[in-house]
Amino acid sequence: MKRILITGGAGFLGSHLCDRFIKEGYHVIAMDNLITGDLKNIEHLFHLKQFEFYHHDVSKFIHVPGELDYILHFASPASPIDYLKIPIQTLKVGSLGIHNCLGLARVKNARVLIASTSEVYGDPNVHPQPEEYWGNVNPVGPRGVYDEAKRFQEAMTMAYHTYHGLETRIVRIFNTYGPRMRLNDGRVLPAFIGQALRGEDLTMFGDGSQTRSFCYVDDLVEGIYRLLLSDYAQPVNIGNPDEITIKEFGEEIIKLTGTSQKLISLPLPTDDPKQRKPDITKARSILGWEPKVSRAEGLKITYDYFKSLSKEDLFRMAHHKEF
Ligand code: UDP
Repeated sequence: MKRILITGGAGFLGSHLCDRFIKEGYHVIAMDNLITGDLKNIEHLFHLKQFEFYHHDVSKFIHVPGELDYILHFASPASPIDYLKIPIQTLKVGSLGIHNCLGLARVKNARVLIASTSEVYGDPNVHPQPEEYWGNVNPVGPRGVYDEAKRFQEAMTMAYHTYHGLETRIVRIFNTYGPRMRLNDGRVLPAFIGQALRGEDLTMFGDGSQTRSFCYVDDLVEGIYRLLLSDYAQPVNIGNPDEITIKEFGEEIIKLTGTSQKLISLPLPTDDPKQRKPDITKARSILGWEPKVSRAEGLKITYDYFKSLSKEDLFRMAHHKEF
């Protein structure tokens, strides 16, 4: 049985990856310090003997007994609100955290896949963004702690690949959504759906003309699975190229939820990228991957998930994560 370590395993993406690798017959070790992750996301796996959970901060020395075939480094705050609240931890998990993962991978002779991000392109001057674009990032702006940590993480991973010959993979993840997003993580989808559910107006930042391209989580997980098992060590964009303005997105959520509230405009945050859309030519040709779930289908599943949460879950997601 192949053994895989997933850091950030109790998070939104990490927990979906745990599910996928359990389904594929792997022994899964999830690691999380639970700052932004939530045990609720993986509690359904605890009874399985092929699943283990380590409550550990990846920025500190990692010890995992036994063999490891793969390491997925998915630990990191990932929403602008989160990394503004915990900027130092964000920088540490992308630098010290990846160093620990790469060191562990060398000892275990494991293959490492790291979660990078479309944020490495910053506020892009090239549209859509191909992997060859080097980006337009402000290192000292509010997003710098995340963007630069992820860029460092890519550089460190490449260095281990070229200097130590380590097997490495880099996925650049574009905006992804689905069940298990945290309702108060500040990202646009949980923000809008949470507001609709509470009967509040939807807070659109700026005039809503900025664009994003939203990928459903199952599509993303399939892309990551294929990349891990491929032999391609350069970065690969995984995302859905179906681009939409935030204003149109808000209108879709209003229609989906049937709320009688409206979109209101709040100031645009500093350095908020004006446009974002992945060029997925590489993913198509190298991995034979492209997204399958339309926004209409994915949003419906995600809305049903948020509606199904108990009052207790909603309270926990909204209040206990004030770090
Ligand atoms: N946004 C918004 N209202 C909100 C939260 C976000 O209009 O309540 C906007 C935000 O300014 C950005 C886009 O939605 O332009 C996506 O934001 P998110 O935080 O989800 O991710 P980003 O792609 O900016 O990292």
